[in-house]
Amino acid sequence: MKCIFFLFFLVIMNLNIAQVSPIIPAPVVYQELNESLNFDGDLLVNFIGLSTNLQEQITHLAAIYHGIQFSNFSSGPKISFKKLENVKQDSYSINVSNEIVISFSSDVSCYYAFISLMQLIETTSSGFKLKKCFVKDYPKFSWRGLHLDVSRHFFTVEEVKKYIDLMSLYKFNTFHWHLTDDQGWRIEIKNFPKLTEIGGWRDSTMNNHYSTKPRTYTRHKYGGYYTQEQIKEVVAYANSKFVTIVPEIEMPGHSRAALAAYPEYSCTGIQQGVEGLWGVFDDIFCSKEETILFLQKILDEVILLFPGKYIHVGGDEAPKTRWEKCTNCQKVMHENNLKNEHQLQSYFIQRMDKYLTEKGRKLIGWDEILEGGLSSNAAVMSWRGFEGGVEAASQEHEVVMTPGSHCYFDHYQGKGSNEPIAIGGFTPLEKVYEFNPIPNQLNKKYEPYILGGQANVWTEYISDFDKVEYMVYPRALALSQALWCLEKPSFNAFKNVLMDKHLPFLKKMKVHYAKTIFSPKIEWEKSKKGVQFNIKSNDQGEIYEVESSEIKNNKISKMNFNVLQDECIEINRSEKDQINYTYYVRSKNDSSTTQFNIQATSSLGAPVKYITQPSASYNSGSLTLVDGQHGSLPWKRNEWIGFDTTEIDIEIDLLKRQKYKQLNVSFLSDEHSWIHFPEWIEVFYLRKGKWKHCSGPVQFSYLQSEQVRSFQIELNKPTRNVLVKIKSLTVIPNGLPGAGHIPWTFIDEIEVVK
Ligand SMILES: [Zn+2]
Repeated sequence: MKCIFFLFFLVIMNLNIAQVSPIIPAPVVYQELNESLNFDGDLLVNFIGLSTNLQEQITHLAAIYHGIQFSNFSSGPKISFKKLENVKQDSYSINVSNEIVISFSSDVSCYYAFISLMQLIETTSSGFKLKKCFVKDYPKFSWRGLHLDVSRHFFTVEEVKKYIDLMSLYKFNTFHWHLTDDQGWRIEIKNFPKLTEIGGWRDSTMNNHYSTKPRTYTRHKYGGYYTQEQIKEVVAYANSKFVTIVPEIEMPGHSRAALAAYPEYSCTGIQQGVEGLWGVFDDIFCSKEETILFLQKILDEVILLFPGKYIHVGGDEAPKTRWEKCTNCQKVMHENNLKNEHQLQSYFIQRMDKYLTEKGRKLIGWDEILEGGLSSNAAVMSWRGFEGGVEAASQEHEVVMTPGSHCYFDHYQGKGSNEPIAIGGFTPLEKVYEFNPIPNQLNKKYEPYILGGQANVWTEYISDFDKVEYMVYPRALALSQALWCLEKPSFNAFKNVLMDKHLPFLKKMKVHYAKTIFSPKIEWEKSKKGVQFNIKSNDQGEIYEVESSEIKNNKISKMNFNVLQDECIEINRSEKDQINYTYYVRSKNDSSTTQFNIQATSSLGAPVKYITQPSASYNSGSLTLVDGQHGSLPWKRNEWIGFDTTEIDIEIDLLKRQKYKQLNVSFLSDEHSWIHFPEWIEVFYLRKGKWKHCSGPVQFSYLQSEQVRSFQIELNKPTRNVLVKIKSLTVIPNGLPGAGHIPWTFIDEIEVVK
């Protein structure tokens, strides 16, 4: 071994330093020479020693990347494969000189090596070019996962296979298959056929976003499931691509589809349908012995189908409402000396943990399984942030990090109005790229318990496979860097390689990836006379076309111009009345359009002082309230300022002392997210250094049917400064989500009109 590494060292000495590799995820070492191998079609290959599957996969890779074929008699460069013993697990190297040598430690590393080699080959007018180079590579984390929810929306076997194929090309090795939830049971269980006969189908599906009012439904039968034969087919397919499947059978919560089929395993026994609404539901599996045995019989069949080590049992979002009132559940608590329902959930998971452990498997669950005490062998998937993962790792449990902040691919990836509907949140490519599964607050000695990370793809708002691909790509490529690279290249270096090499490849593979990164970067800031926005072209020198219209006194004036690089457009605050502007920024490369409307009033861009500080999670700065733009619906975090206090004071400096006519404030209501309209609002104005009462309090009539409501308050006082006092409800009323808690108050805009 020493000899081999000594030789590698000599080779490196003669190479140029610090090149950016075209490989994603980027390898540990990449060194290239200024010489290339050129060839026009075939490669001379020696497959001796490779498994049949590897030979097939390698042949397939050569075909899909470049249409290259192998032959034993080619005049093209020779590729040989060398299996190494006693080297780092799953490591490989590629040495390109006058021939190509791939050295590998395992079948999977040979597969990965060949993918890297394919990414190194460039197409030229006369054939192919491969720079002479040396690559040495191995992964940072052992769990590199992508998840797919097939319950909220169902995806066919062929679509699931495409999902697995693509992920393996970016060196992901774990597919988390979310097979059951409230809205559909998707895996055939021979012992309990009603799970798919009844639980696999729902009568209706909600339209639009959860927060859209009024709520409407499409009343079509919707569903589907995978037979055990189909599951075996997918498992074998994944295995051939070196991907392990982690099946998820949700318990005790998210179980409405199972309970629609077998209501006897709920607390009430009441027959209810499969859910057509998204959310969290009170009816969950009862903790009685019969249910435990029912679920263990289901797990028996799941274990036979999935050979991987981990079985996911969910464990998240299980309200304890039914358990508190159920005599069976209370009996289980009493018999097992459990103090509360959290301990009962812990007991429930422990029973599954013990069962799976006896069968030689390992239980994994969402971080709620920490509540009430973590079961002895359980691994934890940390989704509500990094904290659950840190806690579990500190207790020496295995952890997979999937924090919503970086890893939820059901979140928006761009701010443009052309982004399709998503659940909420904002997780752009840069944010995913920043992800590090090992948080700073974790004690170094527990780092080995962090197995890696994973992106979750919940499909409430993803009804077809094209949109799955839109939400996952290219964000999965950023994640692959975060999970594979010992040291990530800069984000810009990544983005250049992505645009140059990988997006064209995804296009060739017919992947409907998001083109959000081509959208212009639009940055808002205050200006002397109001607000201004800067349109920055992306690094590829993209040209944008801007079309604008201005409506003033019912007169429309239009403009149209091109932005070649950077452009700053200023909008003045209005001296009188309100002026409405609409801007369309169109990318000339892919014709995606971003639109925004601005209402210019006297307060446009005025200094705002938060006397009551907004919540750090919903504070996108003081300009948000006076940028002339109303928050869109369904609401997005960055367009609203959120407060979690009962009293809110905001001061605005209008910069000019004069008489103002009216002040408008608009609020959001989304009871599911505990966001409510306030109770009343009052306005003060500053006179000789003292706040004088001006108007209000104006009572708010509580109307649940509205999503956004605007208060209009008369001013009619000469002043330069106004103080807006808002009083929220003291607590959320009974019968609503979050009852008894202080509600959130969300404001998108304050306008002062002269
Ligand atoms: Zn019960």
